[in-house]
Amino acid sequence: LVPILLHFFLTATTPYTTLPSVLLVGPSGAGKTALLTLFERGPLYHQQAPSSSAAAAQKPRVSAPVAQTHTSQVPASVELAVSTPANSDGTSGGGPTSYRTDLDAAGATAKKFLLVDTPGHPKLRRHALAQLSSPSATITPSLLSPSTTSLSSSSSNSTTEASKSKLKALVFLVDAAALADPDSGALAAAAEYLYEVLLALQRRFSARRGSRAPPAVPVLVAANKLDLFTALPAALVKSQLEAELGRIRRARSKGLLDSGVGVEDELAGGGGGMGEEGDNWLGAYGSEKFSFKEMMEFDIEVEVIGGNVVGDGPGADKWWRWIGERI
Ligand code: GDP
Repeated sequence: LVPILLHFFLTATTPYTTLPSVLLVGPSGAGKTALLTLFERGPLYHQQAPSSSAAAAQKPRVSAPVAQTHTSQVPASVELAVSTPANSDGTSGGGPTSYRTDLDAAGATAKKFLLVDTPGHPKLRRHALAQLSSPSATITPSLLSPSTTSLSSSSSNSTTEASKSKLKALVFLVDAAALADPDSGALAAAAEYLYEVLLALQRRFSARRGSRAPPAVPVLVAANKLDLFTALPAALVKSQLEAELGRIRRARSKGLLDSGVGVEDELAGGGGGMGEEGDNWLGAYGSEKFSFKEMMEFDIEVEVIGGNVVGDGPGADKWWRWIGERI
């Protein structure tokens, strides 16, 4: 296993054109803005960040781990970087570190990428979903983020923003504390959105031309707010989401049956190619209970990992490492 050094990127010398993307999606209030801010400010938040480093020189010191977030209508993207540090003998070295690591101080070569925030509001999601279902290996971050604002001090360039970016992975953030509250409707709302996201990726796979599938887009379900004692642990977030996704799948196929489209028709259009109607069935056709493992049929790896952006808890390091391993 190659240890990975992760770090936030400081300069804007590399045009957005060449950077791969990781999409950050999830319902409003899950903590997307907070997470983006945490990763962007990572090295500065770390108390031991060397004051002589480029990071300290170029950025104002922040007194709070996370800026006050607001209801975001306008998504943002930040430029970040991951790296595998090399020992003097050329082998990879150092233990796995977090987004707090100062990559400049570590002397590592960075692989840069864009973390692209998307709107959580249901009315604004369709841009993200439309791009996901396209069999193209790339997305256009500027269409997801019409007013892409770099949280760093560098100003963004409108010509490079219109460019395509390779989609590497997707992080679906959920509020694990809200999921625990049966009256909040958060579980149904999160599952509804996740269903659309996974279905879009499934369609992307199915819409391939010939035998060549577009590069796989792995999905991290990040169970956030585990600092709150009311929050569901990751294993329960996983099983509850799976159960809810199964319910949605059943309800939707029942809707199709009621509308006169039989299962036979769906199966006829199903199989490898997936026809119009079969298009609405998430995962393995005909399976009783839904499980994230079924998505492997479409080359979609789904992993659920718990963490938190603020407060005491497992933190965001595991998410960061998951992203780093997929860039
Ligand atoms: P967004 O709508 O997904 O962008 O969510 P925000 O980033 O605006 O976060 C919504 C609220 O959740 C804010 O008040 C955040 O401070 C809070 N929040 C985010 N992450 C955490 C966390 O890990 N733990 C706790 N307790 N609150 C969090």
